[in-house]
Amino acid sequence: AEEVGGTDKEVVREYFNNTGFERWKKIYGEATEDVNRVQLDIRLGHAQTVENTLRMLRDGGPLSGMSVCDAGCGTGSLTVPLAKEGALVTASDISAAMVAEAERKAREALSGQSDVRMPNFEVKDLESLSGKFHTVVCLDVLIHYPQEKAEAMIAHLASLAESRLVLSFAPKTVYYDLLKRVGELFPGPSKATRAYLHAERDVERALEKVGWKWNHEIYSPEHLQQKIMPF
Ligand code: SAM
Repeated sequence: AEEVGGTDKEVVREYFNNTGFERWKKIYGEATEDVNRVQLDIRLGHAQTVENTLRMLRDGGPLSGMSVCDAGCGTGSLTVPLAKEGALVTASDISAAMVAEAERKAREALSGQSDVRMPNFEVKDLESLSGKFHTVVCLDVLIHYPQEKAEAMIAHLASLAESRLVLSFAPKTVYYDLLKRVGELFPGPSKATRAYLHAERDVERALEKVGWKWNHEIYSPEHLQQKIMPF
């Protein structure tokens, strides 16, 4: 993968401030003419992840007044609906371009609503986040972390959470590992940054190490497949 000239994290930051920003803004957007078939599938799968997360969070009680940290917020797909429901959201991302876009979307969606608070936006990698939140959410970020860095990342997020941590990741199974390898056979300008899969057991172990118990919530196979396909 493209590791020339920096560490994984710098590569990820650079990617999500430039080509990655443009690509993901389209994928997470609404215009159908902007995306190809595969990207459209990713958009739908991601919308499902966001919906499932919102449902899971609501199941734990009303979101109004609840402090939520959206770590690696991207363009605000989760941040905006959470804020609309009255959650006190702190949204951060390693990419300044992503944070600016999330902020723009939040202003657009929340202007004129007096009973909601604008999220608190920060350009920060999630290792630099501090404070305590009722709930910490981190969707589709772990995919940028190799296993040897994932454990510390999970431990840090857990340390910020008072009662819940919601993580999404692409599970490493023989089948998806294979698909990913097939994906790596397709180089070229459309290839995204390197994607890392994580074994469920490894994620669970990282959580157990810091005293957390994992409540399994598994993606649908369709969604997994989309995440690993090259596009
Ligand atoms: N969570 C958002 C969502 O689900 O809509 C965005 C997901 S996007 C695939 C991954 C995001 O993670 C990008 O916006 C990227 O900039 C961010 N990211 C990657 N590594 C990060 C890090 N170390 N700290 C904070 N954000 C990071």
